[in-house]
Amino acid sequence: MGAALSTASLFLLPSLPSTVPTSLNLLLFTFTWYTLILTHPPLHVELLASAFSRITFFLIPSLLSLVIDTVAPPLAEQAKALGPRALPLNAAGSVAALARVAAWTLGNALFGLTVQAGIETGLEKTGLRTALNVGKTLPLPWDLARGVVWLLFIRSICQYTIHRFLLHPQKATQLSKLHHSWAHSISAPFSLCAGYDHPLPYLLHTWATLYLPAALLHSHVLVYALALALVSLEDAVAYSGTVSCRKSPQDAPCSDAVKRPRILTCPSSAISFPSPHLA
Ligand SMILES: [Zn+2]
Repeated sequence: MGAALSTASLFLLPSLPSTVPTSLNLLLFTFTWYTLILTHPPLHVELLASAFSRITFFLIPSLLSLVIDTVAPPLAEQAKALGPRALPLNAAGSVAALARVAAWTLGNALFGLTVQAGIETGLEKTGLRTALNVGKTLPLPWDLARGVVWLLFIRSICQYTIHRFLLHPQKATQLSKLHHSWAHSISAPFSLCAGYDHPLPYLLHTWATLYLPAALLHSHVLVYALALALVSLEDAVAYSGTVSCRKSPQDAPCSDAVKRPRILTCPSSAISFPSPHLA
């Protein structure tokens, strides 16, 4: 509990009122970081920071969005690019299907953390350095920004390549069939479905595309946590269904797009929206 509070305070310190001097902010941040590092094993710090980013910037906004969509459907459907059909209950098909999406989204997030813990534990037992840098030294603001930009850049390339060539290959494979029958079984996007896929394609496409580059670069855990927070927020917003679809010469109008077995793209990112029942 104490560790969770320390992790939360690390992320919340920069949002202190502007009346608090920046130097005091940095001092408090450094002090909290040292306290966290000195009182907890590196693995706990890494997992807490990762879980905090995913919960705060993806799960909580997605669940809030789901509650709003469910409690006030007339208000929500006006904000949806695809209208009433994009309401989570309509998109999933039934209450049971919606519950399944929510459960698997949570399960996949836990699965990613479990694999991360397994990798770090394995490295620790073999005497190798940890995958992420959980050192006492804090990265300088420029190093933090540069590290995050690199991770996001590498992730974008990896995600596109994996999605295009492994999850949607010319000839269907077991992996692509799993992806189609899970992630593409939802007729319209809503925030929670950003984490909904069979665990294997989820691990490959969503989790590994950020964690493995961070491990290869031996990124500082704060760089990884910040990059994870940004992509989590992007997932929640891009899949919310409130962003208009891009209309290229080849694309059907947004209103017709859900009838067609294609990937819809979002203008704000290269993230693909699920298209209906491709399997
Ligand atoms: Zn896909």
